Amino acid sequence: MRTIAVMNQKGGVAKTTTSVNLSAALARSGKSVCVIDLDPQGHASFHLGLDAAPGSRTVYDVFAEQCTVDDTRQLVAENLSVIPANIDLTAVEVELSNTPGREFILRDALNHWKQQNRFDYVIMDCPPSLGVLTINALCAVTEVLIPLQPHFFALQGLSKLFETTALVTRRLNRDLRVTGVALCLYESGTRLAADVTEDLRMFLTSSDSDTPWAKAKIFRTRIRRNIKLAEAPSFGQSIFDYAATCPGARDYAELGEEVLAMAASDLAARAA
Ligand code: ADP
Ligand code: MG
Repeated sequence: MRTIAVMNQKGGVAKTTTSVNLSAALARSGKSVCVIDLDPQGHASFHLGLDAAPGSRTVYDVFAEQCTVDDTRQLVAENLSVIPANIDLTAVEVELSNTPGREFILRDALNHWKQQNRFDYVIMDCPPSLGVLTINALCAVTEVLIPLQPHFFALQGLSKLFETTALVTRRLNRDLRVTGVALCLYESGTRLAADVTEDLRMFLTSSDSDTPWAKAKIFRTRIRRNIKLAEAPSFGQSIFDYAATCPGARDYAELGEEVLAMAASDLAARAA
């Protein structure tokens, strides 16, 4: 079971768009996928057609230890299910502030899935902050995927994000690695996008090999800016159901292939 947190503390960089459409791409390739919505805004849930009314079973109940992940999971398409979130989730930050071991609630809730290899992929859509919800995601996964919008300040935010992953790796989850950076909202042909991508490449290749991001891959696929990707959420559909042949669908299908290929090369490396 691969576990991936889609994380960036900045808002509006395509975390949710990537969580949802990458998950849908993997599900369409025959992999079993569960998306965990960790943003109280509930955008990923909504994007996949769920409108979790206040008081309904959501990931909040998992944090409150009132429900299991199986109780809250809902099937939304073939091979694709979601643990939804809604505004109830904002309470977690306060309610858990004095709870010892609060960083590990999600990890422990997913333990039996890991043991049973219940899904091929569990993908977590993180909120735009580095609070207790994001830390829970980082303690429950082995991979971090960072969506990045290549503009002038993009790399500044990254250092804070990398620091956080390094801290979690040192103290809470030794197995955590930043495995990929996906360039999203990409304006092909612009000088700035190419420059930022090159700066990122330089930064990654010049990092010490013991940092958790040393082996991070910049995905070859660029997710281009495409209006269909912005329209799909309001119809509660992934890009493949909303506009299967648009550039956005092609880009996320290709990103899905790259993520699948990482798994294959990992397995080959382990077997060697
Ligand atoms: P985050 O989860 O990081 O806050 P979102 O995935 O919600 O970001 O994306 C922010 C906004 O940009 C949303 O309105 C979304 O529909 C839109 N968007 C994301 N990716 C693209 C894209 N490649 N082309 C056009 N619009 C996009
Ligand atoms: Mg989001």
